[in-house]
Amino acid sequence: MGLKASNTCEMTFGDQHPAKGWLIGDKHDGIRQMFRIIEFARMMVGTKAIAALSTGYLNALEYAKERVQGTDLSQFMDKTAPKVTITHHPDVRRSLMTQKAYAEGMRSLVLYTASVQDAIQEKEAAGEDAKALHGLNDLLLPIVKGYGSEKSYEQLAQSLQTFGGSGYLQEYPIEQYIRDAKIDTLYEGTTAIQGQDFFFRKIVRDQGASLNTLSEEIKKFLAGAQGNDELSGALDSLAKAAVDLEAIVGTMITDLTATGEDVKNIYKVGLNTTRLLLASGDVVVGYLLLRGAAVAAEKLPTASAKDAAFYRGKIAAAKFFAANILPGVGAERALAESVDNSLMELDEAAF
Ligand SMILES: Cc1cc2nc3c(=O)[nH]c(=O)nc-3n(C[C@H](O)[C@H](O)[C@H](O)COP(=O)(O)OP(=O)(O)OC[C@H]3O[C@@H](n4cnc5c(N)ncnc54)[C@H](O)[C@@H]3O)c2cc1C
Repeated sequence: MGLKASNTCEMTFGDQHPAKGWLIGDKHDGIRQMFRIIEFARMMVGTKAIAALSTGYLNALEYAKERVQGTDLSQFMDKTAPKVTITHHPDVRRSLMTQKAYAEGMRSLVLYTASVQDAIQEKEAAGEDAKALHGLNDLLLPIVKGYGSEKSYEQLAQSLQTFGGSGYLQEYPIEQYIRDAKIDTLYEGTTAIQGQDFFFRKIVRDQGASLNTLSEEIKKFLAGAQGNDELSGALDSLAKAAVDLEAIVGTMITDLTATGEDVKNIYKVGLNTTRLLLASGDVVVGYLLLRGAAVAAEKLPTASAKDAAFYRGKIAAAKFFAANILPGVGAERALAESVDNSLMELDEAAF
């Protein structure tokens, strides 16, 4: 190893001594080893992205509570109206609640997936079969990594937006978070690759077993939460989004089956893989937010003043996500069902 004039470090394996390699695991078993490492790495990358959004949101919230700019919209006719902090503006509230819902919902996604991984270890330590749990973990990993990184990057841009022009300054950390978070949609398999892995390996090759386990879990939660007046509208949104998601999978399976007649039908599947991944993430995050909100609703009547605000925030975030994000799954269903091959038939010169 030596220092170059430019002060960069250069390393050449075998420069001074013969390079030596160690075999990890058995011979001809490398790809399995690599996939095992990749599983850990995907969990770690998704978690890192989601944590970056969490701190991005908290920074944005702190700034929004202090920044005084503009008058209250309801006093728009009054030229003498006092200036208010930007948390008073409807659009800032909309953005902050979107950031909060994604940050907290995706934190639940990380913890939920981690709890499945813990359960695998417990079962295996007890000598029991953990095949179904492995399947669920495999299904969740591309959501943690692909959806987690895409939504974190998207929402971090909203965190910066809350700062206005100040978001560009290095005095605040958001511009750095955004630069650091973009890599999470790329390495350890880009989002496109996560989407293909999710559909072809985690759903088709698994014959839908793990997706079915997850969907049954959501249905069980919905049945158990019936009668919760506070959340009833939000629960209906989740139930509808889950049906729309099943329909997207159904469309893609139909297109995949149609490759028997014309192999080009596979393109229609490929046009929908990222859509399916992101819609699945919305449904799982919606489910986890509502699960948390149901607990919060139970605790609220006997909570202290400080805890009550926390619980109200949990309920508000879940309801906001159900009202503003989950209906998008229905729109994605309509788009998925209308996909045709015109894009693939278009001459490259037309791009
Ligand atoms: C900062 C940084 C650190 C990294 N660290 C490591 C490391 O430690 N170890 C390591 O091994 N690698 C590392 N990488 C490499 C990283 O994993 C790859 O850059 C990444 O997997 C994408 O591969 P690529 O760059 O070849 O892009 P490409 O494969 O050329 O992809 C280009 C674009 O085309 C899309 N695309 C490509 N193929 C398909 C397909 N079949 N279907 C649909 N879309 C497709 C991609 O989604 C992407 O949008 C690092 C990269 C960066 C930038």
